[in-house]
Amino acid sequence: MNAEPPLLTALRPGTIILVLSLIIFPLGWHILSANEDELVCEICGEVIQHGQYIILDGHTYHNRCYERCLKCAICRKPILDEYVKDKQGQAYHPECYDQAPKCALCGDPIIQGRYYTGQSGTVYHQHCYDKAAKCELCQEPLGKGPVIRLGQHRYHQSCFDNALKCDICGFPIQGEYRIDMYGRNICSKHLHDQACCICDYPRIKTKLSDGRGLCERCSTTAILKEDQAERLFNRIKNDLHHEFGLEIDIKIAFQLIDQKTLFSLGTETEPSMLGKFLRQTKTLSVPILGDKTISEDFTIVILYGLPRMLFVSVAAHELTHAWQALHCRDDQSVEVKEGTAELIAYLYLEKRNEFIWMDRIANNEVTLYRTGFEKALDLYKKLGLNRFRQRVTELDRF
Ligand SMILES: [Zn+2]
Ligand SMILES: [Zn+2]
Ligand SMILES: [Zn+2]
Ligand SMILES: [Zn+2]
Ligand SMILES: [Zn+2]
Ligand SMILES: [Zn+2]
Ligand SMILES: [Zn+2]
Repeated sequence: MNAEPPLLTALRPGTIILVLSLIIFPLGWHILSANEDELVCEICGEVIQHGQYIILDGHTYHNRCYERCLKCAICRKPILDEYVKDKQGQAYHPECYDQAPKCALCGDPIIQGRYYTGQSGTVYHQHCYDKAAKCELCQEPLGKGPVIRLGQHRYHQSCFDNALKCDICGFPIQGEYRIDMYGRNICSKHLHDQACCICDYPRIKTKLSDGRGLCERCSTTAILKEDQAERLFNRIKNDLHHEFGLEIDIKIAFQLIDQKTLFSLGTETEPSMLGKFLRQTKTLSVPILGDKTISEDFTIVILYGLPRMLFVSVAAHELTHAWQALHCRDDQSVEVKEGTAELIAYLYLEKRNEFIWMDRIANNEVTLYRTGFEKALDLYKKLGLNRFRQRVTELDRF
């Protein structure tokens, strides 16, 4: 049975309405004089001889009988037969009770006065609603269903299950949040925590000697050892030759360095710089990683602690600069140089399905790198690899 009064069903969720008495009393009152025979009081069964009586919805009662008898809290008519009592002790005709909307908290009928309509059309007595513990996500009373408790916080199980959760604190996300490059959701509570120097994830697993911090994900594959880095570097140099025809027939010195040393090479203005190609001989002193005098013509340095595939990306980029130094025009624009180096790194990653790191190149925040990459990619798509490589050697600007 679903026969809510029209006023109840018309309410929008969340509205609080003061319903005035709808009872038809004033119209039903009839005060008549005596001498009208045949009228029988439906309560006591006696003929109404004289005096005041009441006609309510077509039924007649002695005034005094009506006042003394049990009345239904909903329709206000006398209860002459069976009735139902609610928890407050109010009586109802069984059919009036059955048809009335019930409070989702106490189960008693909602008759009149203040009540609250919830999102799903659920109704509550206002007093029941006001004192109930609420779900933090939907603001509705927790009620009798399963509840999730996290510290001081409480949620409906279903609200909690459907909510997006923060990957750091595990709490349902309310309001602003961001998604990092690995697809992790981060709520705004962690805005001021120290973040991973690679991906900005605000939870540090590994602290590097130069003050940088790495999150767990970035730590897992971080390149920290010189010999491991050098082997990987040489493999990439070899791959660039065989996969992209970038011949670099010269010995290149390679070294992992910390951020301070990298900045000392003039990259301070671009803090996003993770490696550098150097033409001249350098002596680099990195306290943590050991001194090294670099005596080759070309040197490539890469920041230590990069996740493996970012190291690969940076190495491919810097090695492309070495190739450019050997094969391209000296007056080539920075945009062509950087754009081409970014493209080679991108294609190298693409062959290995490393989409996260490809995105990092395509979305580079440094405009010159990004526009250079986009122009190089267009040219590559038009010409194909071999003609692109040939063209780049002759190109001064895009
Ligand atoms: Zn009577
Ligand atoms: Zn009734
Ligand atoms: Zn209630
Ligand atoms: Zn909820
Ligand atoms: Zn969080
Ligand atoms: Zn990270
Ligand atoms: Zn570069």
